[in-house]
Order: sequence, then C-alpha cells, then structure tokens
Amino acid sequence: MDSYNSFKVAQKQVVEGARLLNLDEATIEHLKWPQREFKFTLPVKMDKGGIKIFHAYRIQYNFARGPAKGGIRFHPDETVDTIRALAAWMTWKTAVVDLPLGGGKGGVVCDPRIMSERELENLSRAYIRAVADAIGIDKDIPAPDVYTNPQTMAWMMDEYETIIRRHQPGVLTDKPTPIGGTEGRRDATSRGGVITVREACKVLGVDPTGKFAIQGFGNAGQRAALLHHELLGGGKLVSVCDSRGGIYNEDGFDSKELVMHKLKTGSVLNFPGSKAIPRDSVLELDVDVLYPAALENSISKKNADNIKARIICELANGPTTPEADLILYKKGLHVIPDILASAGGVIVSYFEMVQDNYSFFWEEETVHNRLDQKITKAFHTVQEAIREKNVHPRLAAMMVGVARVAEACKLRGWV
Ligand code: GLU
Repeated sequence: MDSYNSFKVAQKQVVEGARLLNLDEATIEHLKWPQREFKFTLPVKMDKGGIKIFHAYRIQYNFARGPAKGGIRFHPDETVDTIRALAAWMTWKTAVVDLPLGGGKGGVVCDPRIMSERELENLSRAYIRAVADAIGIDKDIPAPDVYTNPQTMAWMMDEYETIIRRHQPGVLTDKPTPIGGTEGRRDATSRGGVITVREACKVLGVDPTGKFAIQGFGNAGQRAALLHHELLGGGKLVSVCDSRGGIYNEDGFDSKELVMHKLKTGSVLNFPGSKAIPRDSVLELDVDVLYPAALENSISKKNADNIKARIICELANGPTTPEADLILYKKGLHVIPDILASAGGVIVSYFEMVQDNYSFFWEEETVHNRLDQKITKAFHTVQEAIREKNVHPRLAAMMVGVARVAEACKLRGWV
C-alpha cells in the first residue's frame, strides 16, 4: 500500500525547513530525532481465554517549548517510524499554533475493529501501566488518534489515577465531559480545518459555497462535512469515501443524512441517490475544496497531477508526500498543511488541560471563539511566511514551527 517511510519524509521536511532558516548543523541534527522513545510489550487477557502480546510505543519528540503532547493510535500498520513521524509533526504543529507544548505520539499495533470492548479496555489499561512513569501533566499529555476515542481516554485516565492515587484529569485530553473533558473538543480538529478554509477562500478569492469532497469519513471527515456548511454558509458535498469505497452525487449530499447513514451502516456506500466510484478517485474530482481526512501518504506523485481542488485542507496527518507537494504547488493549488489545518484538535486539547488544571470549565462558545482566534492567527502567520520566503505552504508552516522550536532549544542552551 504505502512504500514511503513517513519518518524519512518527516526528517526530510525538517532538514529542508531548517536549512532555509540557516540553522546550524547541531540544531538540525537535534531536531531530526526524537528526544525520548519508549517501546513496550503489553500482555492482554483476551475474551476467548489466553493472553496476547501487543507491541506499543510512546515517542516524545521534543520538550523545548513544553511537555510532549499528542495522540495514541491503535492501528495494525503502526511501526516505530510511523509513530516517530507523527510525533515530529505534533512538535511542529503545537509550535505553529504557538502552544506552550512539545510534540509526542503513541501507538499500539493492533486491530481494534476485531477486538471486543473488554479487550480494548484491558489493552488501554495495560498501555497506561507501562507508560505511567513517562507521562503526566508536566511531562507528556496523550489524547486520542486513529481508532481511539474519549472512552479510551476515560479508561486510561482512570488507570493513571489509580496508579498515582489522586485525581489528575489533565494527564490526558479529549475525555468525556462528565470526567474532565472540555466542551468543543470532539469537533475541534474539523472546526479548525474549516476555519482555515474560510481564511484561505478570502485570501485566494475562492467561493466558499462551491463544491467540496472529503476523503475519509471517520470522526474528522464527518464533522468537516457538517461544519463546512455551518461555518461557510453553504457548499455542495459532491463526493466522499471511506475504507470500503467512494460515492458521488453531482447535486451534493445532505451531509446530516450521510453521517447518519455512515453511523448506521458502518460505511458511506449505498447512500440513497449516490453513485459508487473507486475510493481514490474522490481525490481527483473538480472541486473547490478537498479535505484529505484519512491516513498518511494518500496524495503522492502517482496521483498529484490529477488533483484539481483549488484548496486542499489536510485534516489527516501526513496525507501528502514531498514530491506531491511540489507538483501541487506548481499546479497553483493551495495546500493548507496538516500541521496547521489539523491543529484545532490539539489547540482545544490545550484548553482542556488548562481547564482541568484550574478545575474551572468554560462555555462551549468561549472554546469556539478562542480556537478561532488561535488558528486564524496561525493561518495568517503562515501566509506571511509563504510570501516572505516564497516557498510552498507546508515548507512555510514547517519553517514557522521549526524556527520556534529551535529558538527554545537555543534559549535553553541545548544547541
Ligand atoms: N491526535 C490529534 C492530532 O494529531 C490530537 C492530539 C492532541 O490533542 O494532543 O493532532
């Protein structure tokens, strides 16, 4: 499926940004590698009897600007290198949106789709028992990612608090609201992305009520569909896909009905009034806005030439390879890079930590407004870097993030 090594891609990106910033070799070498890596083997009791051993990781990429922050993913294809890449991207992501945090990521190699609720709970608790010493409100604050969710966080928080024998809900974010979760976290990644599209439409003169398509229809994709209409005052969702295939309707789908269909049937396929299309052709349609919201490396040099969307808003982490970036840039298509477009999640995670640590909770509207302010400011900082440095948007965003992390490393006297 994917012949790219995501960590090599992430390293190449940081080196390119760092060289253009004229950083010295020691700083570049430092930023090319994670600061701490943990590998665990987790024994878990399975429903049918017997114990299965799962391989798991937590990687804390950089602490210069604050404690590590980033999700924990449960996925059969995870490797140490996918987690390293995702941890690196979290570091640049928290820096681009100017949060007082570093970057990290965790993962368990497993297939949650074939595991029972009880097995997932056993696995989540085993993960926390293994990682407990390394995380904490002032060390590393995990959150959900692919195939993990607020329930996973609830089990994990409970296990952590059982180990430390006191309340400390801020150790993990995107928890259910009755136990320390914040308002506005569940749709934060998509909300942040749609806000960046709003700003990009203004800058580029694109009609925000035109056609759009979504690749991947999990949490981020579904909420982007709903929020695109709500925040941009219209828009026609003409195509979506999930892991089982794609669908198309020239006249646009009713996004609410489509989300209900997906939740009911487990797929977007067979939605009334839709035509089935190959999964990957969703990326190549003639639309104003495209949201890649699936996994890494879906836009590569194999298909980049066929992409036509004016604005590509990367809700997924790492959906575009470096070769594809250049092709899209030359074609005049505007990529809102993942470390900016998908930063709404971690921004609101940060708000959740702050609320937990103060034990004082905000109204949903306050969360939405503060998210809007932060991500809008970051969008325009990156726009300024695009103009000033004359580079493509990802490189500009990388340069903003890398410069901030490098500055913190220097101030601390590390390099
Ligand atoms: N997993 C999300 C991301 O990739 C959220 C991370 C967080 O909230 O810490 O940005």
